[in-house]
Amino acid sequence: MSYSGPTTLYIDGEWTAAESGETFVTEDPATEEPYADVAEAAEADVDRAVAAAYEAADRDGEWRSLGPRERGQHLHAMADAIEERKDEIVNVESHDNGKTPFEASLDIDMVIETFRYYAGWTDKIQGDEVPVPGDRLNYTVREPVGVTGHVIPWNYPFQLAGRSLAPALACGNTAVLKPSSTTPLSALYYAVAAEEAGLPEGVLNVVPGRGSTAGNRLAEHPDVDHVAFTGSTGVGKGVMERASENVTGVTLELGGKGPNVIFPDADLDAAAAGCHYGIFMNAGQMCWAGSRLVVHESVHDEVVDRVVQRAESTPLGSGIDDDGQMGPTVSESQQQEVLDYIETGKEEGATVATGGGVPEDKDAGYFVEPTVFTDVTNDMTIAQEEIFGPVLSVISFSDREEAIEIANDSPYGLMAGVWTSDLKTAHTVAEYLDYGMVSVNEYPVTQPQTPFGGFKESGYGREQGTEALHEYTQTKNVNVNLE
Ligand code: NAP
Ligand code: MG
Repeated sequence: MSYSGPTTLYIDGEWTAAESGETFVTEDPATEEPYADVAEAAEADVDRAVAAAYEAADRDGEWRSLGPRERGQHLHAMADAIEERKDEIVNVESHDNGKTPFEASLDIDMVIETFRYYAGWTDKIQGDEVPVPGDRLNYTVREPVGVTGHVIPWNYPFQLAGRSLAPALACGNTAVLKPSSTTPLSALYYAVAAEEAGLPEGVLNVVPGRGSTAGNRLAEHPDVDHVAFTGSTGVGKGVMERASENVTGVTLELGGKGPNVIFPDADLDAAAAGCHYGIFMNAGQMCWAGSRLVVHESVHDEVVDRVVQRAESTPLGSGIDDDGQMGPTVSESQQQEVLDYIETGKEEGATVATGGGVPEDKDAGYFVEPTVFTDVTNDMTIAQEEIFGPVLSVISFSDREEAIEIANDSPYGLMAGVWTSDLKTAHTVAEYLDYGMVSVNEYPVTQPQTPFGGFKESGYGREQGTEALHEYTQTKNVNVNLE
């Protein structure tokens, strides 16, 4: 195994084996070779991590008593530590997940920016004075919630962990991070960064382990005060149910079935480029994938030709030892799931315009060809369910109302794209789309400053921006009788 980075749990400032001594082996999805042997946290280990985080969250403890500016400096120091190790983390993420180094590099940059963004917020999280009748002083204080649990999927392992850790820490909370057992490695670099940045012991704990054991325990633990869950809608519902036993707050960042709606007056080259990127980056394994291309019938063929041409000229490979621009799917089971959806699409009458199987020139790796289906109707399985792979469904429309109806006819509501050169069309369609995020003339896009989250079954609550500061603080109202 070529991996030489950290492989144990990180609890209370110590690198430690699982209590059971169990480990599990991860695989490089581009080579199908074992990559790392990692300590496997079970319930008892999560309990140890939560206990450490609970103690570190004490009101009189070192972390809570730090001045806001010092807390911000700790976040900057974490960003520095990550930046210094960027090449190493990029390499680990590429081998662990299969994404190309280019894609991994964008993820790590986003984390660095997110830590710096929230580092600037630590001394600006403030309450209000409330005008009340009588001789009284009434004010609000925004306090940390306490212990935060972070359950993260395998598609953006490093980036999504940082997305919720940074605001949670900025608000003065402590954290227990459970990465996916499919891609547990980059999460351990948060522990490395925390050590280097001098975070007090117990403030940040990392427990690689399985969802059904470690993840489940974190969601149901009575001493966890907020669960930040990113993953599938099905698992998210279960997490919400278990957190409800303790009336614990949750943020849920779940699945999507994003439409890219293209009007005839759009710049078709730009639209085709955006739609290609929006479905084939990260091998289509994105919550915000633009997996439905909803295009006006008058430009349908032109757009399809452009997207197919781009799909056919995308080199597949890990990008580590080759010039690959689209990596493999994350695992054999994920590859199989995507191939099953492709079969369903064919059976339900959609036409494969390109792709539709595994590439013939690969001896190893869980690759799936960039696939474009035409003749799709929105009631087909491939238009309704999240495939989580490089599969695009093209659906045509005849007028604006129909475009909006198709786009909104989904159980999900995460991100939608609109392509047009007409301002009125852009704003009107943006208003009518039932999506948490709408982007006009580029796709997909997000920044640390902008709220990220979905309508409908795509989630609950928001990460990023000032909205996340509300998720990770609770308001205390103080009334003082001055009579
Ligand atoms: P998943 O199967 O739901 O897993 C997500 C996380 O939950 C993993 O850490 C997993 O651990 C853990 N988990 C599994 N069962 C659990 C349980 N019973 N209790 C607590 N935790 C449990 O999702 P995935 O397959 O990794 O990721 C794909 C999904 O994530 C897609 O639906 C995608 O749309 C969604 N996603 C959403 C966003 C967003 O921001 N909205 C971003 C990225 C991905 P193990 O992996 O170890 O089982
Ligand atoms: Mg899963």
